[in-house]
Amino acid sequence: MRQTLKSWLVLGCLLVLAPLARPAATTYADADFAQVRKFDAHVHANVEDDVFLKVARQDGFEILSINVDYPDFPPLNVQARIAHALQAADPERFHFATTFSMKGFGDAGWTARTNRRIDAEIRNGAVAVKVWKNIGMVEKNRAGQLIMLDDPGFDGVMAHLEARRVPLIAHQGEPKNCWLPLEAMTTENDRSYFRDHPEYHMYLHPEQPRYETLMAVRDRFVAHHPALIFVGAHMASLEWSVDTLAVFLDTYPNAVVDLAARMTQVQYQSNADYEKVRQFFIRYQDRILYGTDLTEEPPTAIERAQNPPMQSGEFQREADSFWRSDWTYLATSGVQHVDAIKADSLGLALPKSVIDKIYYSNAKRIFKRIQP
Ligand SMILES: [Zn+2]
Repeated sequence: MRQTLKSWLVLGCLLVLAPLARPAATTYADADFAQVRKFDAHVHANVEDDVFLKVARQDGFEILSINVDYPDFPPLNVQARIAHALQAADPERFHFATTFSMKGFGDAGWTARTNRRIDAEIRNGAVAVKVWKNIGMVEKNRAGQLIMLDDPGFDGVMAHLEARRVPLIAHQGEPKNCWLPLEAMTTENDRSYFRDHPEYHMYLHPEQPRYETLMAVRDRFVAHHPALIFVGAHMASLEWSVDTLAVFLDTYPNAVVDLAARMTQVQYQSNADYEKVRQFFIRYQDRILYGTDLTEEPPTAIERAQNPPMQSGEFQREADSFWRSDWTYLATSGVQHVDAIKADSLGLALPKSVIDKIYYSNAKRIFKRIQP
């Protein structure tokens, strides 16, 4: 009898310990952050110094710096020069995506010129090409109409990317909040950005394309290029609904998305329905790339005048705390306050195997070194 009781006690202990032990084995902790291999698939390194690479090294990240034809960034040739220098400094850790100018789009030589530029940058090490929201929202043709991404004028370049297996990273449209009045927006970061930049706040510009129009154009484009490796930047601008994003991913098997600058939108949704958001990440674990949009910018005149210059330490702190906060949210069950949604957010505690894909192996699969 005593023996039996002992056996029952042992069995009881095992039963109690088993569920306690399991989460520790299948999920990461905050303390694992720096050791686990990670890849930030959406950053902008616009300064030729060691600051970005230093914090990436310290925190265990490879980075993909995306060149963009964005007026607030350095000119394209300067962005390219910086990318080449950083890649030469640390080719294992630093990767970059090139882009092209829309100048002369529609002219006879534009396609050949653009393909030549892309090929030259591939020879320099580029692993992808970026298109930005200027296509669809800013650039106009000779007739004064906005040039949309499904314009046949892009076909020659896209066919070239398909043939060479070069991924296209596309930032199309804006967060859906951009088309809503300030008081209806779901996150503070969107609200303050569009309050400060009324020129980009589409709710105030009904003459501009609607959100739904831009999404439909993008969908037509992806459908038209089924062999193109398509990376929808910023959750393909479907950040407001994991259900809608799931339909997009189901419809277009050649598409993946990055999470850059949209984590607060995910946290807003997981606060409303935690299990749904968690299951989304598990179901689409092969289709999601971790990314932040962290941008190291050249110092302003005021910052340059400081002695010592103030910027580098600040950027390192910003990058480190951004990366750690996202890790707590995706990899652990930690609770943290998120100012942008004025709420606490419970971490998704995704399984290690899912974290390893979203944080590393998906990006390594998509952004392979292309044969020059
Ligand atoms: Zn970006």
